[in-house]
Amino acid sequence: MINFENTYSKLPDRFFERVLPTAAVAPTLMAFNEELAEELGIEHAPAGKLAKVFSGEEILDGSEPLAMAYCGHQFGHFNPSLGDGRAHLLGEVVSKSNERYDIQLKGSGRTKFSRGGDGLSWLGPVVREYIVSEAMHHLGVPTTRALCAVRTGAPVFREDELPGAIFTRVAKGHLRVGTFEYFSARSEEDLKTLADYAINRHDPDLNGQDHKYHKFFERVVKRKLSLVAKWMGLGFIHGVMNTDNTSIAGITIDYGPCAFMDKFNRNKVFSSIDRHGRYSYSNQGAIALWNMSVLANALFPLLLKESREGTEKAALRLQDDFKLYEKFYQNEYLKAMASKFGISSPVESDLKIINMFLDVLESDQLDFTNSFRGLNTLDHQNEEFKRLWRERLDEQGHSDEDVVKRMNNSNPYLIPRNHQVAKAIEESLEGNDDYFLSLVKAYKNPFVEDEKLKHLTLEPAPSELVHQTFCGT
Ligand code: AMP
Ligand code: MG
Repeated sequence: MINFENTYSKLPDRFFERVLPTAAVAPTLMAFNEELAEELGIEHAPAGKLAKVFSGEEILDGSEPLAMAYCGHQFGHFNPSLGDGRAHLLGEVVSKSNERYDIQLKGSGRTKFSRGGDGLSWLGPVVREYIVSEAMHHLGVPTTRALCAVRTGAPVFREDELPGAIFTRVAKGHLRVGTFEYFSARSEEDLKTLADYAINRHDPDLNGQDHKYHKFFERVVKRKLSLVAKWMGLGFIHGVMNTDNTSIAGITIDYGPCAFMDKFNRNKVFSSIDRHGRYSYSNQGAIALWNMSVLANALFPLLLKESREGTEKAALRLQDDFKLYEKFYQNEYLKAMASKFGISSPVESDLKIINMFLDVLESDQLDFTNSFRGLNTLDHQNEEFKRLWRERLDEQGHSDEDVVKRMNNSNPYLIPRNHQVAKAIEESLEGNDDYFLSLVKAYKNPFVEDEKLKHLTLEPAPSELVHQTFCGT
Protein backbone atom coordinates (compact mmCIF):
# COMPACT_ATOMS: atom_id res chain seq x y z
CA MET A 1 0.00 0.00 0.00
CA ILE A 2 2.92 2.35 0.78
CA ASN A 3 6.48 1.92 -0.46
CA PHE A 4 8.32 3.04 2.64
CA GLU A 5 11.98 3.98 2.67
CA ASN A 6 13.85 4.78 5.85
CA THR A 7 16.93 6.95 5.40
CA TYR A 8 16.64 8.67 8.77
CA SER A 9 16.54 5.40 10.68
CA LYS A 10 19.94 4.50 9.18
CA LEU A 11 21.51 7.30 11.24
CA PRO A 12 23.13 6.35 14.56
CA ASP A 13 20.75 5.23 17.33
CA ARG A 14 21.14 8.42 19.34
CA PHE A 15 19.32 10.36 16.61
CA PHE A 16 15.97 8.82 17.55
CA GLU A 17 14.11 6.25 19.58
CA ARG A 18 12.58 3.27 17.82
CA VAL A 19 9.10 3.22 19.29
CA LEU A 20 5.67 2.09 18.15
CA PRO A 21 2.53 4.24 18.11
CA THR A 22 0.13 3.23 20.89
CA ALA A 23 -2.72 5.75 20.93
CA ALA A 24 -5.35 4.02 18.77
CA VAL A 25 -8.04 1.91 20.40
CA ALA A 26 -10.85 1.79 17.83
CA PRO A 27 -9.72 4.14 15.07
CA THR A 28 -12.19 5.65 12.61
CA LEU A 29 -11.44 7.81 9.59
CA MET A 30 -12.29 11.52 9.63
CA ALA A 31 -10.51 12.80 6.52
CA PHE A 32 -8.14 11.48 3.90
CA ASN A 33 -6.35 13.56 1.28
CA GLU A 34 -6.84 11.53 -1.91
CA GLU A 35 -4.96 13.96 -4.15
CA LEU A 36 -1.91 14.00 -1.93
CA ALA A 37 -2.01 10.22 -1.55
CA GLU A 38 -2.06 9.91 -5.32
CA GLU A 39 0.96 12.22 -5.66
CA LEU A 40 2.79 10.15 -3.03
CA GLY A 41 1.99 6.90 -4.79
CA ILE A 42 -0.09 5.59 -1.87
CA GLU A 43 -2.53 2.94 -3.03
CA HIS A 44 -6.27 3.21 -2.53
CA ALA A 45 -7.61 1.36 0.48
CA PRO A 46 -10.98 1.14 2.27
CA ALA A 47 -11.67 3.62 5.09
CA GLY A 48 -11.21 0.97 7.76
CA LYS A 49 -7.74 0.09 6.52
CA LEU A 50 -6.75 3.76 6.24
CA ALA A 51 -7.89 4.35 9.82
CA LYS A 52 -5.76 1.44 11.02
CA VAL A 53 -2.65 2.46 9.09
CA PHE A 54 -2.85 6.19 9.82
CA SER A 55 -3.43 5.69 13.51
CA GLY A 56 -0.52 3.31 13.88
CA GLU A 57 -2.75 0.39 14.88
CA GLU A 58 -1.37 -1.47 11.90
CA ILE A 59 2.29 -1.05 10.98
CA LEU A 60 2.87 -1.76 7.31
CA ASP A 61 5.81 -3.80 6.08
CA GLY A 62 8.74 -1.52 5.40
CA SER A 63 7.78 1.06 8.02
CA GLU A 64 10.30 1.61 10.83
CA PRO A 65 8.53 3.91 13.31
CA LEU A 66 10.67 6.26 15.33
CA ALA A 67 10.59 9.45 17.37
CA MET A 68 13.20 12.06 16.47
CA ALA A 69 15.52 13.74 18.96
CA TYR A 70 15.81 17.52 19.06
CA CYS A 71 15.93 20.42 21.45
CA GLY A 72 15.41 24.13 20.97
CA HIS A 73 14.97 27.68 22.16
CA GLN A 74 11.41 28.27 23.34
CA PHE A 75 10.50 31.95 23.69
CA GLY A 76 14.22 32.72 23.72
CA HIS A 77 15.14 30.19 26.41
CA PHE A 78 17.15 27.06 25.73
CA ASN A 79 15.37 23.80 26.48
CA PRO A 80 17.90 20.95 26.17
CA SER A 81 15.38 18.12 25.84
CA LEU A 82 12.44 18.26 23.50
CA GLY A 83 12.06 15.73 20.68
CA ASP A 84 8.98 13.98 19.27
CA GLY A 85 6.99 13.56 22.46
CA ARG A 86 3.76 12.74 20.69
CA ALA A 87 4.79 11.91 17.13
CA HIS A 88 6.02 8.86 15.23
CA LEU A 89 7.79 8.98 11.90
CA LEU A 90 6.45 5.98 9.96
CA GLY A 91 8.98 6.32 7.18
CA GLU A 92 9.60 8.18 3.94
CA VAL A 93 8.08 7.93 0.49
CA VAL A 94 9.35 9.19 -2.83
CA SER A 95 6.62 11.06 -4.72
CA LYS A 96 5.74 10.90 -8.39
CA SER A 97 7.75 14.09 -8.90
CA ASN A 98 10.70 12.32 -7.30
CA GLU A 99 10.71 14.23 -4.03
CA ARG A 100 11.26 12.50 -0.70
CA TYR A 101 8.62 13.06 1.99
CA ASP A 102 8.33 12.04 5.62
CA ILE A 103 5.08 10.47 6.77
CA GLN A 104 4.56 11.16 10.43
CA LEU A 105 1.76 10.50 12.90
CA LYS A 106 1.03 13.17 15.48
CA GLY A 107 -0.86 12.43 18.69
CA SER A 108 0.09 8.77 18.41
CA GLY A 109 1.37 8.02 21.91
CA ARG A 110 4.24 8.42 24.34
CA THR A 111 7.92 8.24 23.45
CA LYS A 112 11.05 8.70 25.51
CA PHE A 113 10.82 12.41 24.64
CA SER A 114 7.34 12.85 26.13
CA ARG A 115 8.58 14.19 29.48
CA GLY A 116 5.42 14.80 31.52
CA GLY A 117 3.09 14.69 28.50
CA ASP A 118 0.66 11.93 27.55
CA GLY A 119 1.79 11.78 23.90
CA LEU A 120 -1.76 12.38 22.76
CA SER A 121 -3.74 14.98 20.90
CA TRP A 122 -7.41 15.79 21.17
CA LEU A 123 -9.48 16.33 18.09
CA GLY A 124 -9.26 20.14 18.03
CA PRO A 125 -5.61 20.58 17.01
CA VAL A 126 -5.97 17.78 14.45
CA VAL A 127 -8.89 19.48 12.69
CA ARG A 128 -7.10 22.82 12.91
CA GLU A 129 -3.81 21.60 11.43
CA TYR A 130 -5.61 19.68 8.69
CA ILE A 131 -7.58 22.74 7.56
CA VAL A 132 -4.88 25.37 7.95
CA SER A 133 -1.91 23.45 6.54
CA GLU A 134 -3.86 22.43 3.42
CA ALA A 135 -5.11 26.00 2.97
CA MET A 136 -1.51 27.25 3.26
CA HIS A 137 -0.44 24.87 0.54
CA HIS A 138 -3.17 26.10 -1.78
CA LEU A 139 -2.30 29.70 -0.92
CA GLY A 140 1.13 28.96 -2.37
CA VAL A 141 3.11 28.84 0.89
CA PRO A 142 5.63 26.03 1.50
CA THR A 143 4.25 23.89 4.30
CA THR A 144 3.80 20.45 5.78
CA ARG A 145 0.66 18.84 4.41
CA ALA A 146 -2.28 16.91 5.75
CA LEU A 147 -2.71 13.33 4.60
CA CYS A 148 -5.14 11.91 7.12
CA ALA A 149 -7.13 12.54 10.30
CA VAL A 150 -8.41 9.72 12.47
CA ARG A 151 -10.40 9.53 15.71
CA THR A 152 -8.57 7.17 18.06
CA GLY A 153 -11.67 5.95 19.87
CA ALA A 154 -10.01 6.80 23.18
CA PRO A 155 -10.48 9.85 25.39
CA VAL A 156 -7.82 12.48 26.08
CA PHE A 157 -7.88 14.30 29.38
CA ARG A 158 -7.26 18.03 29.30
CA GLU A 159 -9.43 20.41 31.34
CA ASP A 160 -12.27 18.20 30.12
CA GLU A 161 -12.47 14.72 28.70
CA LEU A 162 -12.14 15.07 24.93
CA PRO A 163 -12.04 12.68 21.97
CA GLY A 164 -8.50 11.72 20.95
CA ALA A 165 -7.33 12.02 17.35
CA ILE A 166 -4.25 11.43 15.22
CA PHE A 167 -3.02 13.62 12.42
CA THR A 168 -0.83 12.33 9.58
CA ARG A 169 1.66 14.99 8.55
CA VAL A 170 3.61 14.90 5.32
CA ALA A 171 6.79 16.96 5.17
CA LYS A 172 9.77 17.43 2.89
CA GLY A 173 11.65 16.75 6.09
CA HIS A 174 11.32 17.16 9.83
CA LEU A 175 14.79 18.54 10.58
CA ARG A 176 14.58 21.70 12.62
CA VAL A 177 17.02 24.31 13.83
CA GLY A 178 16.57 22.51 17.15
CA THR A 179 17.84 19.24 15.65
CA PHE A 180 21.12 21.03 14.88
CA GLU A 181 21.24 22.54 18.36
CA TYR A 182 20.78 19.08 19.86
CA PHE A 183 23.60 17.40 17.96
CA SER A 184 25.93 20.39 18.03
CA ALA A 185 25.76 20.21 21.82
CA ARG A 186 26.76 16.53 21.69
CA SER A 187 29.75 16.27 19.36
CA GLU A 188 31.18 17.64 16.18
CA GLU A 189 30.94 14.18 14.69
CA ASP A 190 27.17 14.06 15.29
CA LEU A 191 26.80 17.59 13.97
CA LYS A 192 28.61 16.63 10.78
CA THR A 193 26.51 13.47 10.38
CA LEU A 194 23.36 15.56 10.66
CA ALA A 195 24.55 18.33 8.34
CA ASP A 196 25.60 15.79 5.71
CA TYR A 197 22.24 14.07 6.00
CA ALA A 198 20.45 17.40 5.59
CA ILE A 199 22.55 18.38 2.58
CA ASN A 200 22.00 15.00 0.91
CA ARG A 201 18.32 15.35 1.48
CA HIS A 202 17.64 19.01 0.75
CA ASP A 203 20.59 20.45 -1.13
CA PRO A 204 22.45 17.54 -2.77
CA ASP A 205 23.90 19.85 -5.44
CA LEU A 206 26.17 21.30 -2.71
CA ASN A 207 28.02 18.01 -2.31
CA GLY A 208 31.57 18.36 -3.53
CA GLN A 209 31.44 22.18 -3.48
CA ASP A 210 33.80 24.40 -1.47
CA HIS A 211 32.31 25.81 1.73
CA LYS A 212 29.32 23.53 1.42
CA TYR A 213 28.23 24.01 5.04
CA HIS A 214 28.23 27.76 4.67
CA LYS A 215 26.30 27.51 1.43
CA PHE A 216 23.85 25.14 3.09
CA PHE A 217 23.41 27.58 5.95
CA GLU A 218 22.74 30.40 3.51
CA ARG A 219 20.13 28.31 1.69
CA VAL A 220 18.34 27.57 4.96
CA VAL A 221 18.38 31.27 5.87
CA LYS A 222 17.00 32.35 2.52
CA ARG A 223 14.30 29.69 2.50
CA LYS A 224 13.19 30.70 5.97
CA LEU A 225 13.16 34.43 5.27
CA SER A 226 11.25 34.01 1.99
CA LEU A 227 8.76 31.87 3.85
CA VAL A 228 8.14 34.46 6.54
CA ALA A 229 7.70 37.18 3.90
CA LYS A 230 4.94 35.02 2.39
CA TRP A 231 3.29 34.72 5.81
CA MET A 232 3.38 38.50 6.13
CA GLY A 233 1.68 38.96 2.79
CA LEU A 234 -1.21 36.83 3.99
CA GLY A 235 -1.56 38.22 7.49
CA PHE A 236 -0.51 34.87 8.94
CA ILE A 237 0.84 34.66 12.46
CA HIS A 238 2.67 31.43 13.26
CA GLY A 239 2.42 32.04 16.98
CA VAL A 240 5.21 29.84 18.26
CA MET A 241 8.34 30.48 16.22
CA ASN A 242 10.60 28.56 18.56
CA THR A 243 13.76 27.11 17.03
CA ASP A 244 12.33 23.60 17.39
CA ASN A 245 9.45 24.74 15.17
CA THR A 246 11.76 26.20 12.53
CA SER A 247 12.30 23.92 9.56
CA ILE A 248 15.59 23.48 7.71
CA ALA A 249 13.61 22.85 4.52
CA GLY A 250 11.93 26.27 4.63
CA ILE A 251 8.44 24.96 5.20
CA THR A 252 5.78 26.11 7.65
CA ILE A 253 5.72 23.53 10.41
CA ASP A 254 3.86 23.06 13.70
CA TYR A 255 0.44 24.57 13.46
CA GLY A 256 -0.29 25.17 17.10
CA PRO A 257 -1.59 28.58 18.04
CA CYS A 258 -1.25 29.96 14.50
CA ALA A 259 -3.92 32.19 12.99
CA PHE A 260 -4.72 34.51 10.12
CA MET A 261 -5.59 38.03 11.14
CA ASP A 262 -9.04 39.44 10.48
CA LYS A 263 -8.70 43.13 11.37
CA PHE A 264 -5.22 44.41 10.68
CA ASN A 265 -3.02 45.12 13.68
CA ARG A 266 0.75 45.17 13.34
CA ASN A 267 1.23 43.98 16.91
CA LYS A 268 -1.35 41.24 16.77
CA VAL A 269 -0.68 38.18 18.95
CA PHE A 270 -3.08 35.25 19.29
CA SER A 271 -1.19 32.67 21.28
CA SER A 272 -2.26 32.41 24.90
CA ILE A 273 1.33 31.78 25.99
CA ASP A 274 2.92 34.71 24.08
CA ARG A 275 2.53 37.27 26.84
CA HIS A 276 5.16 39.72 25.63
CA GLY A 277 4.36 39.69 21.93
CA ARG A 278 7.63 38.00 20.96
CA TYR A 279 5.91 36.25 18.07
CA SER A 280 3.57 39.08 17.06
CA TYR A 281 2.81 39.65 13.36
CA SER A 282 5.38 42.37 12.77
CA ASN A 283 8.12 40.66 14.81
CA GLN A 284 8.20 37.55 12.64
CA GLY A 285 11.00 38.72 10.32
CA ALA A 286 13.26 39.68 13.23
CA ILE A 287 12.52 36.42 15.01
CA ALA A 288 13.30 34.39 11.90
CA LEU A 289 16.69 36.12 11.77
CA TRP A 290 17.21 35.43 15.47
CA ASN A 291 16.41 31.75 14.87
CA MET A 292 18.95 31.72 12.05
CA SER A 293 21.58 33.12 14.43
CA VAL A 294 20.90 30.14 16.67
CA LEU A 295 21.47 27.87 13.68
CA ALA A 296 24.70 29.73 12.86
CA ASN A 297 25.90 29.03 16.39
CA ALA A 298 25.01 25.38 16.15
CA LEU A 299 26.76 25.00 12.79
CA PHE A 300 29.75 27.10 13.83
CA PRO A 301 32.22 24.24 14.38
CA LEU A 302 31.71 23.12 10.77
CA LEU A 303 31.71 26.66 9.38
CA LEU A 304 34.91 27.45 11.25
CA LYS A 305 36.69 24.39 9.96
CA GLU A 306 35.88 25.01 6.32
CA SER A 307 36.58 28.77 6.53
CA ARG A 308 40.23 28.05 7.49
CA GLU A 309 40.23 31.32 9.43
CA GLY A 310 40.56 32.12 13.11
CA THR A 311 37.46 31.96 15.30
CA GLU A 312 37.19 35.71 15.59
CA LYS A 313 37.44 36.35 11.87
CA ALA A 314 34.94 33.64 11.02
CA ALA A 315 32.51 35.03 13.59
CA LEU A 316 32.86 38.58 12.24
CA ARG A 317 32.26 37.34 8.73
CA LEU A 318 29.05 35.68 9.87
CA GLN A 319 27.95 38.89 11.54
CA ASP A 320 28.45 40.71 8.24
CA ASP A 321 26.44 38.01 6.49
CA PHE A 322 23.56 38.79 8.82
CA LYS A 323 23.44 42.39 7.62
CA LEU A 324 22.90 41.01 4.12
CA TYR A 325 20.27 38.57 5.35
CA GLU A 326 18.38 41.42 6.94
CA LYS A 327 18.37 43.21 3.59
CA PHE A 328 17.35 39.98 1.88
CA TYR A 329 14.35 39.72 4.20
CA GLN A 330 13.35 43.34 3.65
CA ASN A 331 13.43 42.73 -0.07
CA GLU A 332 11.37 39.54 0.18
CA TYR A 333 8.87 41.40 2.32
CA LEU A 334 8.75 44.25 -0.20
CA LYS A 335 8.14 41.79 -3.05
CA ALA A 336 5.37 39.99 -1.17
CA MET A 337 3.59 43.20 -0.20
CA ALA A 338 4.12 45.15 -3.44
CA SER A 339 2.57 42.40 -5.55
CA LYS A 340 -0.60 42.89 -3.48
CA PHE A 341 -0.75 46.38 -5.02
CA GLY A 342 -0.07 45.06 -8.52
CA ILE A 343 3.53 46.28 -8.48
CA SER A 344 5.75 43.80 -10.30
CA SER A 345 9.30 45.17 -9.79
CA PRO A 346 9.22 46.89 -6.44
CA VAL A 347 11.67 49.55 -5.30
CA GLU A 348 12.29 50.65 -1.73
CA SER A 349 10.16 53.77 -2.08
CA ASP A 350 7.12 51.51 -2.64
CA LEU A 351 7.20 50.91 1.09
CA LYS A 352 5.62 54.33 1.45
CA ILE A 353 2.58 53.20 -0.54
CA ILE A 354 2.43 49.92 1.36
CA ASN A 355 2.69 51.57 4.76
CA MET A 356 0.15 54.27 3.96
CA PHE A 357 -2.39 51.60 3.14
CA LEU A 358 -1.51 49.49 6.18
CA ASP A 359 -1.87 52.59 8.36
CA VAL A 360 -5.39 53.07 7.08
CA LEU A 361 -6.23 49.42 7.70
CA GLU A 362 -4.88 49.68 11.21
CA SER A 363 -6.45 52.99 12.21
CA ASP A 364 -9.84 52.13 10.70
CA GLN A 365 -9.66 48.54 12.00
CA LEU A 366 -10.30 47.05 8.59
CA ASP A 367 -10.15 43.43 7.57
CA PHE A 368 -6.71 42.61 6.10
CA THR A 369 -7.80 40.01 3.54
CA ASN A 370 -10.99 41.67 2.32
CA SER A 371 -9.42 45.13 2.12
CA PHE A 372 -6.63 43.87 -0.11
CA ARG A 373 -8.97 41.79 -2.23
CA GLY A 374 -11.15 44.85 -2.76
CA LEU A 375 -8.24 47.26 -3.14
CA ASN A 376 -8.97 48.24 -6.73
CA THR A 377 -12.64 48.87 -6.10
CA LEU A 378 -12.31 50.36 -2.63
CA ASP A 379 -13.41 53.97 -2.23
CA HIS A 380 -10.17 55.28 -0.74
CA GLN A 381 -10.53 58.30 1.45
CA ASN A 382 -6.79 58.85 1.46
CA GLU A 383 -6.16 61.03 -1.58
CA GLU A 384 -2.39 60.97 -1.29
CA PHE A 385 -2.33 57.19 -1.23
CA LYS A 386 -4.60 57.06 -4.28
CA ARG A 387 -2.41 59.50 -6.17
CA LEU A 388 0.90 57.81 -5.32
CA TRP A 389 -0.40 54.36 -6.12
CA ARG A 390 -1.93 55.49 -9.43
CA GLU A 391 1.31 57.23 -10.41
CA ARG A 392 3.31 54.13 -9.59
CA LEU A 393 1.05 51.91 -11.68
CA ASP A 394 1.16 54.38 -14.59
CA GLU A 395 4.96 54.46 -14.37
CA GLN A 396 4.99 50.68 -14.50
CA GLY A 397 2.98 50.83 -17.69
CA HIS A 398 1.20 47.45 -17.47
CA SER A 399 -2.41 47.28 -18.57
CA ASP A 400 -5.03 47.59 -15.84
CA GLU A 401 -6.06 44.07 -16.67
CA ASP A 402 -2.55 42.79 -15.89
CA VAL A 403 -2.44 44.74 -12.68
CA VAL A 404 -5.77 43.36 -11.49
CA LYS A 405 -4.64 39.85 -12.42
CA ARG A 406 -1.46 40.25 -10.39
CA MET A 407 -3.44 41.61 -7.46
CA ASN A 408 -5.99 38.81 -7.57
CA ASN A 409 -3.19 36.25 -7.52
CA SER A 410 -1.63 37.86 -4.46
CA ASN A 411 -4.74 38.83 -2.52
CA PRO A 412 -6.75 35.72 -1.66
CA TYR A 413 -10.53 35.71 -1.73
CA LEU A 414 -10.53 33.13 1.05
CA ILE A 415 -8.33 32.39 4.03
CA PRO A 416 -9.08 29.91 6.82
CA ARG A 417 -10.54 32.29 9.35
CA ASN A 418 -10.31 31.45 13.03
CA HIS A 419 -14.02 31.48 13.68
CA GLN A 420 -14.56 29.06 10.81
CA VAL A 421 -11.90 26.70 12.13
CA ALA A 422 -13.41 27.01 15.62
CA LYS A 423 -16.86 26.10 14.25
CA ALA A 424 -15.40 23.09 12.41
CA ILE A 425 -13.82 21.86 15.66
CA GLU A 426 -17.07 22.37 17.54
CA GLU A 427 -19.08 20.36 15.01
CA SER A 428 -16.49 17.59 14.77
CA LEU A 429 -16.61 17.36 18.56
CA GLU A 430 -20.33 16.66 18.15
CA GLY A 431 -19.41 13.85 15.75
CA ASN A 432 -20.25 15.68 12.52
CA ASP A 433 -17.30 16.29 10.17
CA ASP A 434 -19.30 17.84 7.29
CA TYR A 435 -18.33 21.43 8.05
CA PHE A 436 -14.66 20.47 8.56
CA LEU A 437 -14.60 18.68 5.21
CA SER A 438 -16.47 21.51 3.47
CA LEU A 439 -13.83 24.00 4.64
CA VAL A 440 -10.98 21.81 3.41
CA LYS A 441 -12.67 21.72 0.02
CA ALA A 442 -13.47 25.45 -0.09
CA TYR A 443 -9.89 26.51 0.60
CA LYS A 444 -8.55 24.55 -2.34
CA ASN A 445 -9.01 27.53 -4.68
CA PRO A 446 -8.46 30.51 -2.41
CA PHE A 447 -7.77 33.04 -5.17
CA VAL A 448 -10.90 32.32 -7.19
CA GLU A 449 -14.02 34.34 -6.53
CA ASP A 450 -17.03 32.08 -5.97
CA GLU A 451 -20.43 33.49 -5.02
CA LYS A 452 -21.37 30.18 -3.38
CA LEU A 453 -18.50 30.65 -0.92
CA LYS A 454 -19.15 34.31 -0.21
CA HIS A 455 -20.26 33.51 3.35
CA LEU A 456 -16.69 32.33 4.05
CA THR A 457 -15.30 35.76 3.17
CA LEU A 458 -17.28 37.42 5.95
CA GLU A 459 -15.50 38.75 8.99
CA PRO A 460 -16.50 37.15 12.27
CA ALA A 461 -19.50 38.62 14.06
CA PRO A 462 -18.56 39.96 17.52
CA SER A 463 -19.91 36.75 19.10
CA GLU A 464 -17.72 34.62 16.79
CA LEU A 465 -14.46 36.46 17.41
CA VAL A 466 -11.54 34.27 18.44
CA HIS A 467 -9.22 36.28 20.69
CA GLN A 468 -6.77 33.61 21.73
CA THR A 469 -5.36 30.41 20.29
CA PHE A 470 -3.68 27.54 22.11
CA CYS A 471 -0.76 25.21 21.56
CA GLY A 472 -1.93 21.95 20.08
CA THR A 473 -1.49 19.67 23.05
P1 AMP B 1 5.07 22.08 20.30
O1 AMP B 1 4.77 23.27 21.12
O2 AMP B 1 3.85 21.41 19.77
O3 AMP B 1 6.07 22.33 19.24
O4 AMP B 1 5.71 21.03 21.32
C1 AMP B 1 6.87 21.30 22.06
C2 AMP B 1 7.38 20.03 22.68
O5 AMP B 1 6.43 19.48 23.57
C3 AMP B 1 7.73 18.92 21.68
O6 AMP B 1 8.85 18.24 22.18
C4 AMP B 1 6.50 18.04 21.74
O7 AMP B 1 6.76 16.71 21.35
C5 AMP B 1 6.13 18.12 23.21
N1 AMP B 1 4.70 17.85 23.44
C6 AMP B 1 3.67 18.65 23.13
N2 AMP B 1 2.52 18.08 23.49
C7 AMP B 1 2.80 16.89 24.04
C8 AMP B 1 2.02 15.82 24.61
N3 AMP B 1 0.69 15.87 24.68
N4 AMP B 1 2.70 14.74 25.07
C9 AMP B 1 4.02 14.68 25.01
N5 AMP B 1 4.81 15.63 24.49
C10 AMP B 1 4.21 16.74 24.00
MG1 MG C 1 6.98 21.67 17.82
